[in-house]
Amino acid sequence: MPVIRKSNKLINVCYDIRGPVLQEAKRLEEEGNRILKLNIGNPAPWGFEAPEEIVQDVIRNLPASQGYCDSKGLFAACKAIMQECQKKNIPNVTVEDIYIGNGVSELIVMAMQGLLNDTDEMLIPAPDYPLWTAAVSLAGGNPVHYVCDEASGWAPDIEDMRSKITEHTRGIVVINPNNPTGAVYPKAVLEQIMDLAREHNLIVFADEIYDKIIYDEAEHTSMASLADDVLCLTFNGLSKTYRAAGFRSGWVVVSGPKHRARDYIDGLDMLSNMRLCANVPSQHAIQTALGGYQSINELIIPEGRLYEQRNLAWKMLNEIPGVSCVKPKGALYLFPKLDPTVYPIKNDEKMALDLLQQQKVLIVQGSGFNMPDTQHFRIVFLPRIDELEDAISRIATFLRTYQQ
Ligand code: PLP
Repeated sequence: MPVIRKSNKLINVCYDIRGPVLQEAKRLEEEGNRILKLNIGNPAPWGFEAPEEIVQDVIRNLPASQGYCDSKGLFAACKAIMQECQKKNIPNVTVEDIYIGNGVSELIVMAMQGLLNDTDEMLIPAPDYPLWTAAVSLAGGNPVHYVCDEASGWAPDIEDMRSKITEHTRGIVVINPNNPTGAVYPKAVLEQIMDLAREHNLIVFADEIYDKIIYDEAEHTSMASLADDVLCLTFNGLSKTYRAAGFRSGWVVVSGPKHRARDYIDGLDMLSNMRLCANVPSQHAIQTALGGYQSINELIIPEGRLYEQRNLAWKMLNEIPGVSCVKPKGALYLFPKLDPTVYPIKNDEKMALDLLQQQKVLIVQGSGFNMPDTQHFRIVFLPRIDELEDAISRIATFLRTYQQ
């Protein structure tokens, strides 16, 4: 019998956050093992529940959500997103410039499908949230990674970015606050990126899904607020700030010189129409989420759960000999480095598998985020203090004797 193969479009597509290590974790669980899962940014299972009022909005509106809605989204939800753009100083956004999707994930794929041809290149951070690289590859484009510099708090290296722009470059992806590094970029850095985009006629894709998960004195600036003459697509949603990842609700906002992008926007409209519409019940949560009480603020201030968990995890990781970690200023993740002179890791996926099998702790290896070395890994700091302590102690025990 002939073998049934996946399409060639998928040959270079890779999404390791849910890759082979997770499969092994599932197998171990089925065998009756308890796994400490530090692998995905899914707040609700760790007791970070969505605000009650948005849950109630969905429940109350469920009977009225049986039909499709407009393919770009419910009017009230789009209006609330438009007002949120005004608060974030994103200029000239109308309800027509907004697309609601089944999570930001769907819209990332849509934005790349609608733009890229075979020789087109997209600048993406390294490390990145790997869906961006996967979506560019799936759309037939070439992902080109620019360096984010660990020594500068993981800020994008502007000169590296500049050196990688070619006649084929179509856009720059900026993930701020960043997954996996937790960096929040200073306004001056964002302005330099904007200048490059302007100079080379590039589109800015700003993934700002963690914009309200900010610690210490850091401040978030929306890329699109910095220019009205550069086309920007800004992505955000309910998954993180509103702890409702399972609602699958996100949006993208187009701003800047839309008149020059009419054809691309027609393409986005077409793709949006083809998927009919996003999940309707959860769109009813958007207006209250954005306009209501921002309970995330209680979690990110001193003594707030996220703040305290970040501090503990960061401290514990840095206390492990040969491990160093930049303190995250935003988001839900730590991206520690293993000193290569202490832990020369040749294959970081194998390291993640070994850790899982020996200590029952699930992490994601750095190469899964398109990090060019094998000396990093990512953990989420969503588990409660006692579980984080347990998990990081196990990582320390594992590393004490680990050799590849
Ligand atoms: N963008 C970033 C940077 C993320 O970290 C994630 C999820 O972890 C997403 C997008 C996907 O979000 P959604 O749940 O809205 O699809």
